[in-house]
Amino acid sequence: MEKKRKPYQLVSREWKKEDTIIQLKNTAIGGGNISLMAGPCAVENEDQIFTICEFLSKQNVKILRGGAYKPRTSPYSFQGLKKDGLILMRNAADKYGMSVITEVMDTNLVDEVYQYADILQVGTRNMQNYQLLRALSKIDKPVMLKRGMSSTMEEWLLAAEYILSGGNDKVMLCERGIRTFENATRNTLDLGIVPLLKSVSHLPVIVDPSQGTGLREIVVPMSMAAVLAGADGVMVEVHNQPEEALSDGDQSLYFDQFNDLVTKLKRTAKVLDKNLDLESEKILA
Ligand code: PEP
Ligand code: MN
Repeated sequence: MEKKRKPYQLVSREWKKEDTIIQLKNTAIGGGNISLMAGPCAVENEDQIFTICEFLSKQNVKILRGGAYKPRTSPYSFQGLKKDGLILMRNAADKYGMSVITEVMDTNLVDEVYQYADILQVGTRNMQNYQLLRALSKIDKPVMLKRGMSSTMEEWLLAAEYILSGGNDKVMLCERGIRTFENATRNTLDLGIVPLLKSVSHLPVIVDPSQGTGLREIVVPMSMAAVLAGADGVMVEVHNQPEEALSDGDQSLYFDQFNDLVTKLKRTAKVLDKNLDLESEKILA
């Protein structure tokens, strides 16, 4: 029987057999490396971002996450520090030799975010914003495409195809939980999609168990599960004072929980003969 042709091409394993490896100035994502991206949900002030960044740098974390433009469900919630947040995050990351990942919410912000970020994140609410995807296909920096909260794998891969077909092949996918009937967790983290994605696509797959569960107590086990399922990395939210956080405090790890995460992910990675990308001497250049 003839195999049904997939609607996506450039993102597929048939098109490209080898794993895509995305090179950053201080590390690489994909190809057997387990990346750890961490930071607050939102950049709130100078003291907060520098405190968190300094803490993460002690664990040799290479990629700082943080939102400056925040897509909040309510217009009355903290919307982010915008350009000031981008500048603060860039300065903190530069001080500690880290890369920056942050969300770009709108086509008219691509140039500004590009200036300060090393990886541009497309949020779940924008996965099918095709104008934005087209704009990101024209830049030369990596893009992390989060899964739309109600999107199928095929819709997700076709969204990635927009970016690749426009000329940017530095794309990674991020599973961040989907909408289901279950409301005990904020979203349902679809870990089954991870090995499936790895088989049908060559793009790196990152898992975000913070948005994926909404509960800090289960972020560590779900991070380990993500790595065991074959993810190329995890992105977690961590805060110096989670109960004071201006967004997503309930899912933000305390510093001691983050240290526990690092210990456990190192062990988990070893089971698979992989390395957690924290050793400063292990830079894949
Ligand atoms: C985030 O990473 O803080 C975020 C808003 O993510 P998502 O788009 O997955 O909700
Ligand atoms: Mn968040």
